[in-house]
Amino acid sequence: IVVLLSTCSTHHPLAKATIFPRSSSSSNIQLSLKPLILDGNLSFENIHEAAKDFGNIYHFLPSAILYPETVSDISTIIKNINEMGTTSGLTVAARGNGHSVQGQAQAYRGIVIDMKSLRGPEMQFYTGELPYVDVSGGELWSWTDFLRLTVGGTLSNAGISGQAFRHGPQINNVYQLEVVTGTGEVVTCSEKQKTDLFYGVLGGLGQFGIITRARISLEPAPIMVKKLNNLFLGDKPPPKSSPPPPPPVTVKWIRVLYSDFSIFTKDQEHLISSQNAFDYIEGFVIINRTDLVNSWRSTFNPKDPVQASQFISDGKTLFCLEMAKYFNPQEIDFMNQKVDSLLSELSYIEFTLFLSEVSYVEFLDRLHVSMLKLQEMGLWDHPHPWLSLIIPRSRIHEFAQEVEQQDFYDHPRGRCSIPSGVPILCNAMFHRDRWLRIHPQPKQKNSGFLQMANLGVKKYLPHYLTQEEWKIHFGYKWEVFLRRKSTYDPLAILAPGQTIFKKGK
Ligand code: FAD
Repeated sequence: IVVLLSTCSTHHPLAKATIFPRSSSSSNIQLSLKPLILDGNLSFENIHEAAKDFGNIYHFLPSAILYPETVSDISTIIKNINEMGTTSGLTVAARGNGHSVQGQAQAYRGIVIDMKSLRGPEMQFYTGELPYVDVSGGELWSWTDFLRLTVGGTLSNAGISGQAFRHGPQINNVYQLEVVTGTGEVVTCSEKQKTDLFYGVLGGLGQFGIITRARISLEPAPIMVKKLNNLFLGDKPPPKSSPPPPPPVTVKWIRVLYSDFSIFTKDQEHLISSQNAFDYIEGFVIINRTDLVNSWRSTFNPKDPVQASQFISDGKTLFCLEMAKYFNPQEIDFMNQKVDSLLSELSYIEFTLFLSEVSYVEFLDRLHVSMLKLQEMGLWDHPHPWLSLIIPRSRIHEFAQEVEQQDFYDHPRGRCSIPSGVPILCNAMFHRDRWLRIHPQPKQKNSGFLQMANLGVKKYLPHYLTQEEWKIHFGYKWEVFLRRKSTYDPLAILAPGQTIFKKGK
């Protein structure tokens, strides 16, 4: 399951770094925490790393970073902070891969737990009727579109992508969790065991516990022969002396273009409603240019090169539907027929069919190449004031009209109605809902956009500065959220960067 990622980096007028200095009381904190006996390491040095995230907008300096080796290290720290009561003001943030965009994994003057250093038992696979894998909470996904997000960080949100229409978000694919709660208790929970905590933690924005282990459902992948994250995915490991053979092509990856939003959404809905259609379906808005972030066809070949070369729409806003079909190499003929038949049901602009064939691992890690390019150009570390929204299906056309009229921001390349060089992702998810992600944030002063709240739009990866706004966000579920907080993290120690609760209040 999971993830369309936007690899873009951009300048944004709102994106000014906020740096909060180290506290003068940090020496007291050192004194109270140093005597703890830990398997891992509590470091008061090089803490600036934990005051950064992908968003590069907020920078909250912690007092220390815990590099846990064991679950017990996490529990010990949290229990110790509980014993100090509310007077210490100390909080704890689990940090997955720091891919939050608004400081959610940071803890001002608190302790950041580097989840990637947690040593779980060796990754175990279980086959059978319902195959699954047990993984540490700090493990990177080998399942998401962008493979550099952690299991714990993503499960604390949802995990939504081009495969969610079929499998649901990632949180729908978890059988069991091991969690350290805000009181330091280590609890195993599932659909049948400690249910309230299980459902609280999944999508719980890190508020009720730290995920140290997750049991995640598996399904067979197309044939692979590549090593990924120390995980060998083929039938037999290649002999050590010879280099492994290149992985076979097992994914048909397709892009088609639309100029009409209604036709685009109709086709997208048609595809997601068929269980036998594609394995992955995403949409995005593009401006037909050939620069790096708009290079939507750089690795794709037009089905009809002559006609495609006559398709001129430079600078025009288009909607791109992206699909992938997985197959095993022996099924190639059948798969070609199947894909042709599916494509014949769509109403994209004639001659804008672009194809690519890659291995499964290349497809999963497709955004890595763009990431490297952007890093090389120094664009990856720019501020990312992203906005991800979930929009009710009934309101998408209204929403799209509003968006079209927006004056987003001044981009270095000029003033744009749709941000240049910045993808707008547009995923049909479930039959009832559609979600659209817009990067970057539109200008706050633009009140028209803020009226979007009236369209029943919800933020994904939300960020608010006041509890009043959080209450509105959660709606009738706020009371449950509040009750769970007082049960599992009564002192409000966990995930302060979400700015939902303040310790001691
Ligand atoms: P962090 O940013 O480190 O943490 C996120 C939150 O979870 C924090 O509050 C943190 O305290 C908490 N947390 C971290 N680990 C744990 C844990 N083990 N237990 C409990 N709480 C924890 N999301 C999607 O759904 N679909 C996408 O397609 C997608 N693509 C992305 C592409 C990029 C390039 C980026 C930067 C982000 C993308 N995201 C996507 C968002 C991503 O899911 C979130 O940023 C998420 O927070 C995962 O990042 P992380 O593992 O680095 O977590």
